[in-house]
Amino acid sequence: MPVVDLRSDTLTVPTEAMRAAMREAEVGDDGRVDAEGRGGDPTVNRLEDHAAELLGKEAALFCPSGTMANLVALATWCERGDAAALEPDLHVFRTEKSPFMEKFLGVQPVFYTRDAEGMPEVASFASACATPDVKLACVENSHNFGGGICVSLARQQALAVTARKAGIPVHMDGARLFNAAVALGVDAAHLVACADSVMFCLSKGLGAPFGSVLCGTREFIAKARQTRKLLGGGMRQAGIMAAAGLVALRTGIERLAEDHENARHLGAALAAYDEFVLTPVQSNIVMLDISASGRSSEWFEQQLAPLGLLAKGMGKDHLRLTTYSGVGRQDMARAIEAFERFMEENRALWK
Ligand SMILES: *Cc1c(COP(=O)(O)O)cnc(C)c1O
Repeated sequence: MPVVDLRSDTLTVPTEAMRAAMREAEVGDDGRVDAEGRGGDPTVNRLEDHAAELLGKEAALFCPSGTMANLVALATWCERGDAAALEPDLHVFRTEKSPFMEKFLGVQPVFYTRDAEGMPEVASFASACATPDVKLACVENSHNFGGGICVSLARQQALAVTARKAGIPVHMDGARLFNAAVALGVDAAHLVACADSVMFCLSKGLGAPFGSVLCGTREFIAKARQTRKLLGGGMRQAGIMAAAGLVALRTGIERLAEDHENARHLGAALAAYDEFVLTPVQSNIVMLDISASGRSSEWFEQQLAPLGLLAKGMGKDHLRLTTYSGVGRQDMARAIEAFERFMEENRALWK
């Protein structure tokens, strides 16, 4: 039986065009920085220039992963013992953790809340930003644990104004920034104009095998380049990887609309079951609250797998289904079928 794997959009594999670009990439030593602060790999430089231009920022820095790009950003903005405004469901806090761990960066979290729509709540964001020692505010768009919720341009702008009043910069974890931009129908540059630094992943829906890009002012990126080196993220002939990233940016952005369409299709079918609470599907993530079943997300993972559907538990109460370029409409039909069979077998749970 064919298995539909909706655990993550990191399951994309490089296209032929990416592999060809990697094979032919012009490379150099990215770790050799010239007087202008540019690294020595021409393809990495092209990727960084392209990303900066696309997002309307002065400069960019290629990083091995989103986790490192976030850590580089926080370590560039904050000193040990500083505080940062965030909410507990941000990926940087809930999954990555390192910026907040004493043995790594030791930043203190000051939490704000999200509203009923899943977006940062402005009043609580304002009071977190105004807390003594808070040197940075973090936001995430689209919001992974929030079920792919996209923070609107108007809300991003309100948050930017609030942070500016408090005199602190905003860092945006835009691992799925282009999903948010496509879903909201706004230019990505517009959306990130509300952030002083932004990180996005090449290796998720955009389909590259590797890497994330951190963008900001020339001054911020020069500092971030030093931070990345200290963290062991300085790379050599990284143009091999940047070449795939350039193809991902050229060919991967508009295509995200297909993933959103597939997720909406799947979400519409699953919304028919009132046994689950479904987060409104806005981008490429379908998030189900399965807590009314009395069973854990791990149990759901184990029950669905033999029916041909791989899903990812998010905490014990949520199940995440993610669409990406490797899965099409036929896979959605299979996933829906697997769910139907699962419900036939397990309806008693809700009685
Ligand atoms: C995946 C992800 C990251 C981290 O990216 P990696 O490349 O996996 O390290 C950061 N933030 C969010 C919201 C993510 O989904």
